[in-house]
Amino acid sequence: MQVINYIRGVRRLYFLDKKNSIFTHKICHSDVTLKDKITADMSLNTQILIAAILGIAFGFLLSVFPQSGFFTSSLYGLGIISSIFIGLLKMLLIPLIFSSIVVGVSNLQAGGQLGKVWKITVACCVTTTTLALILGIGCAHLFDVGKGVDIALFQNDMNQYQTPDTLTPTSFFTNFIQNTLINPFKAFAEGNVLAVVVFALFIGVALVHGGERFKAVRQLAAQFFEIMMLMISWVMKLAPLGIFALLAKLIATEDLSVLSRLAEFAVVVTGTTIFHGAVVLPLLLWIFGKMDPVTFFKGTRAALITAFATSSSSATMPLSMKCAQENLKVSPATAGFVIPLGTQLNMDGTALYEAAAALFVANLIGLDLSLGQQLIVCLTAMIASLGAPGIPSAGMVTMIMVLQSVGLPAEAIAILLPIDRLLDTVRTVVNVQGDMMISVVVDRHTRETVTEPNS
Ligand code: ASP
Repeated sequence: MQVINYIRGVRRLYFLDKKNSIFTHKICHSDVTLKDKITADMSLNTQILIAAILGIAFGFLLSVFPQSGFFTSSLYGLGIISSIFIGLLKMLLIPLIFSSIVVGVSNLQAGGQLGKVWKITVACCVTTTTLALILGIGCAHLFDVGKGVDIALFQNDMNQYQTPDTLTPTSFFTNFIQNTLINPFKAFAEGNVLAVVVFALFIGVALVHGGERFKAVRQLAAQFFEIMMLMISWVMKLAPLGIFALLAKLIATEDLSVLSRLAEFAVVVTGTTIFHGAVVLPLLLWIFGKMDPVTFFKGTRAALITAFATSSSSATMPLSMKCAQENLKVSPATAGFVIPLGTQLNMDGTALYEAAAALFVANLIGLDLSLGQQLIVCLTAMIASLGAPGIPSAGMVTMIMVLQSVGLPAEAIAILLPIDRLLDTVRTVVNVQGDMMISVVVDRHTRETVTEPNS
């Protein structure tokens, strides 16, 4: 009974009273009609889409007057707006991850579901990342990316690049563990997502283990989680403005001309990433999650556009969670467990990019990678995507490890850096999409046996 009441508490949805902005503490179906909710969501979704288009157009307009006062003052204004939006999302991130995992794990554990959810989540992550790697390597081969490009064009950039310390998979793993099992207060203060995830997993299990004794703490965690979701609803109201500013700033400040030097690689990687996100993932979702792509994309549009604009799956996580729960109807316990974990560990777009980029660099310097070496690239790219934090250009840092794993020069990063910020937009969308998709699949395969509240 306790468990049922507890889950019922968590299942309360988090809507703002549209008229007076008062949070209603009632079950959604009784207070806000489904039609009202869909209308409100649709209008926000549409606003976000329009804001994204306007942001890109305004960015192009600004780039026409790069030296003008209009450019400088607009950039200043856009910088302030985007910092407020990203700052608010980051402010909520760590408390949200912590509370959602604690609540999710304690609910799943209480319902005897944790083991099953965990196994399906890992199986989905490994499967989708492996498919992404095969696609990345396959397309790089198919289009021979980098072959015939004159390396001398990049010699200057490469010479100026400071080679970082060697990053091998073993040193990477040691660092990974050393940075994960740390003082939780340090982790909170430094925003170390992985360490917070691990600590929250422990607390969630301990709460269930303690049973009745820790009932008050469980309720506190559930209410704290509700408060976080309420605050996300507020931040969402700023999303159209934030996304407009982020995209306008990105387009206005990126040097789009460098794209042409690496056009073929950029087109192949972006096209393959889009193929993974538009064909492979929806197919898997349809087969294993029994959800049609239109419903999925409609329900997740706000999160996907935010991922595109922020290039950060961590910053997008609050929205991913909201979309999964409210639009895709994933149970809060499953979404609360799978999405934060996926944000940190499941990055199909990043894995695909790193594998294709390693082949690009090898072709560029005229090195034929053997099959064994390509396998090493894939394995390292998988580890690298596990460890890459969900922030802009994180994949570029872990990319060094992938290059060095088969003896490719780390300086080659200098070639990719100028276009990375643009390519990052699309791969982050696919990273975020994968997390939400996995939450649907996991939910579908565990929901029948999850303890549902009495309504
Ligand atoms: N920006 C990506 C993300 O946040 C990580 C990457 O650089 O690949 O998911």
